[in-house]
Amino acid sequence: MPEIRLENVTKRWGRFYGVDDLTLTIKDNAFVTLLGPSGCGKTTTLRMIAGLETPTSGKISIGDTVVFDSAQGINVPANKRKVGFLFQNYALWPNMTVYQNISFGLSNIKEEMDSYSEEARTASRLISILSSPATAESAVEDSKDKNGKIDEKKALIHLTESFLIPMSTAKRLYKILSEGKNYSSAISALEGELENAKKKAEASGYTIGEDFRLMKGGSPVRSVRKLTKDEIDLSVRRVSKLVKIGMFMDRYPAELSGGQQQRVAIARTLAPEPSVLFMDEPLSNLDAKLRLEMRYELQRLHVETGSTFVYVTHDQMEAMTLATDICLMSNAVLQQYAAPLEVYNRPANIFAADFVGNPSINFVEAEGSMSGDGKIDLSLFGGMKASFNPDKPLDLQRWFGDRNERKKHAEEELKQKLHTKGYVEKSNKDEVFKYHIQKVTETDDSLEGVKNITDRDFVLGIRPELIELDENGPLEGEIYGAMPTGMESTIKVRLGDFLLTSVIFGNLHFKIGTKVRMKISTSRIMLFDRASGQLISLGSLEF
Ligand code: ATP
Repeated sequence: MPEIRLENVTKRWGRFYGVDDLTLTIKDNAFVTLLGPSGCGKTTTLRMIAGLETPTSGKISIGDTVVFDSAQGINVPANKRKVGFLFQNYALWPNMTVYQNISFGLSNIKEEMDSYSEEARTASRLISILSSPATAESAVEDSKDKNGKIDEKKALIHLTESFLIPMSTAKRLYKILSEGKNYSSAISALEGELENAKKKAEASGYTIGEDFRLMKGGSPVRSVRKLTKDEIDLSVRRVSKLVKIGMFMDRYPAELSGGQQQRVAIARTLAPEPSVLFMDEPLSNLDAKLRLEMRYELQRLHVETGSTFVYVTHDQMEAMTLATDICLMSNAVLQQYAAPLEVYNRPANIFAADFVGNPSINFVEAEGSMSGDGKIDLSLFGGMKASFNPDKPLDLQRWFGDRNERKKHAEEELKQKLHTKGYVEKSNKDEVFKYHIQKVTETDDSLEGVKNITDRDFVLGIRPELIELDENGPLEGEIYGAMPTGMESTIKVRLGDFLLTSVIFGNLHFKIGTKVRMKISTSRIMLFDRASGQLISLGSLEF
C-alpha cells in the first residue's frame, strides 16, 4: 500500500492561491481528513492528488510513482493513478440494479493481470466447504422464513457471504446441500474436476500454483485481459458484505433509502480494490442519524480494507472522530497536520484552537511578562491578576527571538520569490486569525481602536471542559445561560463583562443569575502569542 507525498504543491488561478506551497506525507493506511472552513483549499488538494486538477507547481508521488512533477513535466492521468473516488453527489445509475451499479466499473477493467484456473479454484473451494459442512448447513438453516420454509435467495446470499464465493459456486453448493446429507459422492466428483483442471493446465504447458494461479517456469502467467464473470461476482459480493447490502442486489436505486444508496456508492468505489480512496464530503446528503451510522461504517471499512483514506470535510466533529491525522487548512495554507487529539490539546495556533472543539474554546486576552521564577505574571479580565506556569521550562525571550527569525526568513523568502521569474504575488494575503472574545456587551471588533500589539500581549485558550464549578474556586461569576442536554450542560458564566463557556457533566439544573465559583485546575491551558497567533506553551493558571 502506498504512501502519498506532496512536495511544495501550489495551485493558483491568476493571483488567487487555492493551495499555497503544501508539503505533506500521508502515511500508508492512514485516514486523513482535510479540514478547514469553506474555500480553504481542501477539495483542490484532494483533486490534485487524485489527478482531477493540475497543480500550478510542485510534486506529488503515490507510492514509488511520481504522478505529478511540474519540473519534469510529469502528469499521470486520474484513471492511471489507481485510486477510488467517492463524492458528495455520488449519483448511482438509476436504470441499473444495485448489482449492475457495483459491477459496471469492474466489467470495464482491462489490464495485465495473473491468470487463474477457475475450475480448480471452484472445485477445491467446494471440497473444503463440504469436508466440514456444518457452517454451510447452518447458513441454509438460518435462511428459513417464519413458516420454516427455506428462502433460497437468502440462503444463496448467506453462502456467498459466509465463504466469500461467487454466486455460481454458491448455487452449486446449495444444490449439493439440498440433495442430502451424504456429500461423499459430490466430493469425489469434485476431486475428479480438480484432477481434470490440473491436466487441462498441464496440456497448455502450465502448472497450478498458489491461490490457483497458472504458472509457467515458476512465474505466474500474466496477460492483458478482462475480469471473468466469477471474479466480478466475487468482488461485488465481497464489498456488498462489507457495507451490508447483500440483500438489495436486484433493487434499483429508487427503491433504496438514502443511507442504502450511500452504501451502494461506497461499495461501487471499493469494488476495484483501490489502495487509496478519496472522499469529498460523502455523507453531507444524509440526515444526522444516518451520518453518524455511516461514520462508524467508514471507520470499520478503513480497518477492514487496509486502504489509505483521504477525506474532505468542513465538519470538525467528523474530522475528529474519523481521522488518524487531521490536515487543517486555512486560506490555502496548511495550519497543522497532526492526530486529532494533538490538534485539540496542542493546537499550533489560535486558528486551530478555534476551529476544533465544540463548544468552542474560550479565548482570554492577557497582558504581562515573565517573572524570575519561570512563570508569566498576567493581568486578565480587565485587571484580575494570574500567573501562568508553563508545563515545561520556557525561555520566553528566546521564543520571541525564534519567532522574529521565522518571520524575517519568511519575508526574505517572499522578497526573493518576487524577483523570481514567473512568480505571481498572492492576492489572498495571509493574516493572523481574528479570534472572538465573548462579552455580555458585544462590540464590533473592527470599530475598536487598533492596539499596538507587543510581546507583553498574550491570548489564553481554555477548553470549556477544563472550567469546573467549585465553591472554593478562585473565580467568581454568575450563570448567564445554560443548555442542559441530559448528560451534560453547556453553561455560560459571566465574569464582569466577560463570558466563559464551561461544560459541566451530569444531570444538573442551572438557574440563570445564580452566583457560582469556578476553578481551572489543569496544566492544559494554552498560551498563545497575540502578535503571531502561535502557541507558546501549555501550562496551568494560578489566581
Ligand atoms: P468547500 O468546503 O466550500 O468545498 P474547499 O476548502 O473545498 O471549500 P476549494 O474547492 O478547494 O475549497 O477551493 C479553494 C478556493 O479556490 C476557493 O476560494 C475557490 O473559490 C477557489 N477555486 C476553486 N476552483 C477554482 C477555479 N476553477 N477557478 C478559480 N478559483 C477556484
